Formats: sequence, structure tokens, C-alpha cells
Amino acid sequence: MNCEVLTLFPKIVEAAVGDSILKRAAEKGLIKIKVTDIRDFTKDRHKTADDAPFGGGPGMVMKPEPVFEAVEAAQRGAEARIMLMSPQGPAFNHEKALELSKETRKLIFICGRYEGIDERVRSLADEELSLGDFVLSGGEIAAAAVIEATARLIPGVLGDDESAGLDSFYDGLLDYPHYTRPAEYRGLQVPDVLLSGNHAEIRRWRRKEALRATMSKRPDLLQKVTLTPEDKKLLAELEKEKLTQEK
Ligand code: SAH
Repeated sequence: MNCEVLTLFPKIVEAAVGDSILKRAAEKGLIKIKVTDIRDFTKDRHKTADDAPFGGGPGMVMKPEPVFEAVEAAQRGAEARIMLMSPQGPAFNHEKALELSKETRKLIFICGRYEGIDERVRSLADEELSLGDFVLSGGEIAAAAVIEATARLIPGVLGDDESAGLDSFYDGLLDYPHYTRPAEYRGLQVPDVLLSGNHAEIRRWRRKEALRATMSKRPDLLQKVTLTPEDKKLLAELEKEKLTQEK
């Protein structure tokens, strides 16, 4: 993944993408993340990147010229896919992360601030992308979230012991519960099966708990997955447990 984030607040993006797993992935050459200050493309002495809205009203609007020039500079020498961070776009999700993780073009993320960016910038973008149905003060955290979720799906970014394939959504289900030492804490026990060393039983228990979590927290996901015969058996067990609990 080769990406560039265009922003008026580079430090926010750098802090989010410059450490831990993403830092390691960049060092290994698996991802490349450039953060560019849109203000570097302003021409006046005061480095003005925003202005009052035509037609009046509150707040400021990001000026088109520095954004256009920042995008053009980012595009130079690279085939690019240009993403405009906006609460008006389709909401980012696991499918989108998978799609972006396979994208060979450079990903350019445009982050707005204030009331937003001059509408003419939209004509530069291939798509709008939202983090969800709420309004942030800027696109930086949204872009960083997209980059982080996308990068962890790129082979090699996570170590063997942190495989993304077991995470929630990857196989259409939520993840199973995780426990670590101590085996008992404040009277709260780790399920016996996890201490048993019986790998077949542990695998079965985890699958059942993934189904249980999905059934109780996100039943909508169950409608979309292809269940194996074992899954159907485990779901039947869960239904039976539910019935005995309700009695
Ligand atoms: N007035 C705009 C919101 C501006 S918020 C509107 O109501 O549509 C300022 C900037 O924050 C936006 O330009 C966008 O880049 C970013 N932003 C806000 N909410 C976002 C979200 N849910 N997803 C992605 N980016 C968002």
C-alpha cells in the first residue's frame, strides 16, 4: 500500500500512523505512508488555507487552490485513487478495507477541516469515504483509521502470531473471546477448556463462542455467512442452551 495523506494537521496523522504495527510495516517496506501539509501549497505570506463561505454563514471553508495543487503534486509520477474523507460518503467497513488492501494504485486521502472543503475539490476525487454516521472535526482520524484497518490485511504486516484471519468480520463472524494469565482473577475464571490442552476441543469451543458472540451482538452478520455443518450443529446447541436458560 502506497498512500499519501493531505491535511492541514499533519501531526495528528503522523501520531496515528507512525508507531507500532504501521511503523514496523513501513520499515519492512510493506506500506509507504507520506503525510503532506496542504499549507505548504499556499502562496501568500500568511499561508492562508481557509476563507469565509460565499453566501455567508458560520465557520470557514478550506480554499480550493492549495488542495488542488497538493493533489496534483501527490499524483505526479503515480497512478492514483483519490479519496475524499467526508461524512457524506459510504461508510468504511471490512469489505472496503479488503478492497483497498489489494489496490495497486497510490491512495491519496484528502482531509477536510472547518466547515469542509470548497465543493469544487469533489471533482478531483474518485470517491468519498466516511468513517460512519457522525461528524468529526477533521478527516485525519478517519484517514488514519482507514489506513490502519487496510494495512493489517496486507500479508506480512501482522506477524504470524497476530493473523488478521482470526479477527472479527474476516470470516463473517465476530471474534471469539480471549483470555490470558492469571487463570483466576477476582473470582473470575478462565473457561476450563482453554486450560485443558485439548486442541480439538479448544478449536470447537472458540468456533462456538464466535457464533455465540455473533448471534447475540450482531445477528445480522449470521444471515450473510456460509455455515459449515459443524457451525449449524453449534448453533443448534446455542439455541438449546438459550431455551434452557429461559425456562
Ligand atoms: N459540514 C460538513 C462536515 C465538515 S467536518 C458536513 O456536514 O458534511 C470537517 C471535515 O471532517 C470534513 O471535510 C471531512 O473531511 C472530515 N469528516 C468529518 N466527519 C467525517 C466522517 N464521518 N468521516 C470522514 N471524514 C469526516
